[in-house]
Amino acid sequence: MSFEFGKEAGMVPMLSIRDIHKSFGNNEVLRGINLDVYPGEALALIGGNGAGKSTLVKSIMGVYKPESGHIYINGEELEFSKPAVSLNKGVYLVPQEPMLFPNMTVERNVLMGFRKTYAVLRENLIALMNQLGWKLDLGRSARTLSIAEQQLVEILRGLLREARVLILDEPTSALTFDEVNALFKIIENLKQKNISIVYITHRLNEVFMIASHVALMKDGIITLQGKAGEFTREMLVKGLLPDDYSGRKFEAKKTRAPAGIRPVFELQHYSGYGFEDINITIHEGEVLGLAGVVGAGRTELAMTIFGRDSVKSGRALLDSEDITGLRTRQIIKKGINYVCEDRFLNGIFRTTSLAGNITSSCLRLLSLFFLSFVSERTLAGKYVKDFRIKTAGIEQEIGSLSGGNQQKAVIARALTTNPHLVILDEPTRGIDAGARGDIYAIINELKTRNVAVLLISSDIEEIVELSDRAITMFQGHIKAEFQGEDITQDNIMRASFGVIHGDAV
Ligand code: ADP
Ligand code: MG
Repeated sequence: MSFEFGKEAGMVPMLSIRDIHKSFGNNEVLRGINLDVYPGEALALIGGNGAGKSTLVKSIMGVYKPESGHIYINGEELEFSKPAVSLNKGVYLVPQEPMLFPNMTVERNVLMGFRKTYAVLRENLIALMNQLGWKLDLGRSARTLSIAEQQLVEILRGLLREARVLILDEPTSALTFDEVNALFKIIENLKQKNISIVYITHRLNEVFMIASHVALMKDGIITLQGKAGEFTREMLVKGLLPDDYSGRKFEAKKTRAPAGIRPVFELQHYSGYGFEDINITIHEGEVLGLAGVVGAGRTELAMTIFGRDSVKSGRALLDSEDITGLRTRQIIKKGINYVCEDRFLNGIFRTTSLAGNITSSCLRLLSLFFLSFVSERTLAGKYVKDFRIKTAGIEQEIGSLSGGNQQKAVIARALTTNPHLVILDEPTRGIDAGARGDIYAIINELKTRNVAVLLISSDIEEIVELSDRAITMFQGHIKAEFQGEDITQDNIMRASFGVIHGDAV
């Protein structure tokens, strides 16, 4: 898989990466990356969670500084860790996590940071939006946007850039099918204009729709690369699996307490925005793992259960009581709490200058509810001790804690409401191994207290290690349920990508 059209023709790659190494502390995340992308090529960069994809593209964009290696843009060496230099050379990254200025309008957010005159830019933007057919009010304040809308804004920014190397890091995770199709038409045009695209995605269909080339990345190295036509869906799924994907390694370590038989929480034919006809039951002391790729509808489901989005049809029962459609405050009172996914919480994006302007909606949501429990300070103190949260005291601003400690604090906050069901959404995303172990211990502790846990995680090892039962969601539907010995990385991975028993969906 090494024949390259561009190479053969003696062309200079638009983007060339040589032996890039990057560590965070002792964690070597990029272990010698080599890649070439020629003009007009679209490279799909595929890899499991934590493979290092975002770290790689942030290194190209100058957000992170690799320890060694070289990056060339059209043959010219790129100076590390200088976003302005990368921009000047025509590199643009649409980040995985939208980073907008919440107080500015959509228009200001898109048009910020260009050299061209504003009127021209605005015309270009309107023309682009017409071409895309995306519906987005330019005058809206960014703080009112959903995640999907924020993603649209970030993509618009990238498309207007006229970059020579346009990198998109999981840009479509929250977009609808039509929005994605419109985007792909534009990307096709960019390819025709000889722009090089690096496209990170979890959606395998997308790979075959837009990529001319594919690179599989695992544990900080590129394990396989070649033309898209040389890859099958099955190969991509395999490429995403960890080496020891039989899952046996984790089977041995598991200490599953037998779950009680009393159902705590039930969803019956539950439908809402982003998911349909969901049926699940969680018993007391049981961890139900909910796996699936970004965009499968898991967070939407959680947000709806938690009263943040409206229910279209079906029922939610807590301790046999119908709680369908209640508002968040009542839901919490009834006995559910939700620790939402929030990447900003995990400190991953602090290195970027924009991040300082972003307030965490998740954190705001939680502190709102926490304030009413401030009287239970002793309880908070108890959790700080139990969870080994390293703070200067419970008064310390949560934002000044390390990522792992922030996450433990957030879980502790959620538990102060005495929930019967706790929904944990990506609880260990981006945190270090020590804190991860503590969070696993917290989850096991919840089980012994008969709390029911819905564990949403893109980390399949985590699902395998912690779940008593595991379900996978794919494109808004529950795709498969696994119990006991069947909870393996291989089974869950296949179901998460819609490949069950070898059938491609
Ligand atoms: P991917 O995008 O492929 O899911 P990432 O590049 O986000 O992977 O992460 C790769 C690894 O690097 C993970 O183990 C993650 O925890 C770690 N990591 C990423 N960013 C940081 C950071 N700013 N500080 C410390 N560790 C990080
Ligand atoms: Mg990433």
